[in-house]
Amino acid sequence: MARAVRQTKVASIEQLSKNMKRITVTGESLMTFPDGFDGGYVKVLVPESLDDTVARSFTVRGFDTKNFNLTLDMVAHGDHGPAARWASNVSIGDLVNIQGPGACKRLNHDADWFLLAGDMTALPAISVNLELLPKDAKGYAVLEVISEEDRIELNAPDGVEVIWVIKPNPTALNSELSDTFTELPWMQGQVSAWVAGEFNTSRVLRRYIRHERKVERDFTYISCYWKIGETDEGMKAAKRNDIEPW
Ligand SMILES: Cc1cc2nc3c(=O)[nH]c(=O)nc-3n(C[C@H](O)[C@H](O)[C@H](O)COP(=O)(O)OP(=O)(O)OC[C@H]3O[C@@H](n4cnc5c(N)ncnc54)[C@H](O)[C@@H]3O)c2cc1C
Repeated sequence: MARAVRQTKVASIEQLSKNMKRITVTGESLMTFPDGFDGGYVKVLVPESLDDTVARSFTVRGFDTKNFNLTLDMVAHGDHGPAARWASNVSIGDLVNIQGPGACKRLNHDADWFLLAGDMTALPAISVNLELLPKDAKGYAVLEVISEEDRIELNAPDGVEVIWVIKPNPTALNSELSDTFTELPWMQGQVSAWVAGEFNTSRVLRRYIRHERKVERDFTYISCYWKIGETDEGMKAAKRNDIEPW
C-alpha cells in the first residue's frame, strides 16, 4: 500500500442502516487518489489518545473522481475501539488522515459460479464485488448483519441469491453464517469463493473451501477483518501465528 498520508475532511455522514454509517471524505489530497480501487481498502488514522493516532482498515466503497469524494461504510460497534469511537462522534468538517489505497480483492470472473460470505465489515467489499459481476452470473451471497434493519439494498445479478443471517450480538461465537454457507447446494463447474469477516468464522469457511471443497487458490479470497476480543493489532498477530497461512 502507498504510505503517503492524505489529509481529508469529512464531507457527509449518513446513517446507511441501523448499525452502519456512511462517511464521505474529500480534499485536494484525493486529486491523486487512483480510480478503480472500489473494494480495495484505505487505512484511516483515527485518534487513539490526545496526541496519537492508530491505523484501521476500511473498504473503499466508492470514489467519485469528479469531486474527489471517497466513501467508507463503517460498522457502529459501540465505543470498543478507536475507529468505532471516531465514527460514532464524527462531524462534518472534521479532518482525518488516510493512507492508501491497498489492493482490491475481487472474485475471479473466469469462474462458472460465485459464492460470497461475510459480516457487516465485509459488506462494503461484497457490495462492490456483486456490482461488478456480469448480469448472467449465478451463485450465492451469505451476509451476516446485526439486525433486520441492516439489510441494505444490493445491486446483485438476478442469478445470485442473497441470504441474510441476523446475528444481534456480533461478539458472540456462533456458527450460523458458516452453517448456512456450508449447507448451500454446490453448483456444477468452477466456483470463485470470496470470504471475509470475523477471524473464527473465516477460519471455519477457509477449512471448508480449501480442504473440503478443494477450491484452488486462484479462485479464492479468504480473509479476516477483525477478531472477537482482540484489537486490530491482536487480530493481525493471530493471523501471523495461525497454523495455516491466510
Ligand atoms: C481489508 C479490510 C477492510 C475492512 N473494511 C471495513 C469496512 O469497510 N467497514 C468496517 O466497518 N470495517 C472494516 N474492516 C474491519 C475494521 O478494520 C475492524 O473492525 C477494526 O478492528 C475496527 O477498529 P476499531 O478501532 O473500531 O476496533 P479495535 O481497536 O480494532 O478493536 C476493539 C474491540 O472491538 C472489537 N471489534 C472490532 N471490530 C468489530 C466489529 N465489526 N464488530 C464488533 N466488535 C468489533 C474487537 O474485537 C475489540 O474487542 C476492514 C478490515 C480489513 C482488514
